[in-house]
Amino acid sequence: MTEQPMDLPYCLDYPGSQIKPFWDNLAQNKFTTTKCPKCGVLWPPKSTCPQCGDKTAEWIELKGMGEIYAKTHVGAAPPAFKEMLPYILAVGKLDEGILVVARVENAKYEDLEIGSPIKIEIKKSFGLDSYVFVPI
Ligand SMILES: [Zn+2]
Repeated sequence: MTEQPMDLPYCLDYPGSQIKPFWDNLAQNKFTTTKCPKCGVLWPPKSTCPQCGDKTAEWIELKGMGEIYAKTHVGAAPPAFKEMLPYILAVGKLDEGILVVARVENAKYEDLEIGSPIKIEIKKSFGLDSYVFVPI
């Protein structure tokens, strides 16, 4: 028996979910998350704070500015991402203190240092609203 790769669709949309406002805001070119009035900024966005249980978290817009916290060069990927290979995947630490994972565009792996300044760029990917990091 030959093992066949699964053709999983690339899906960013979660209609009806508690984080739907994130995708709606992204479509409006805004990178947002939730902020618990007691604990602070939450990432990923959540309607209920996992620390204190508060359910009054508000949506806030993030500046999208930060620095490379960790990076890796991706040379093998699931079928949905094959056309992007090779690519850089990074954890960025945003100025608001949260860690966000995204693909890095317009950069060479060897030119990115830990601490290199980056920003979130909102764009379409596979026809869906998405975001990447770009160096600044
Ligand atoms: Zn809280």
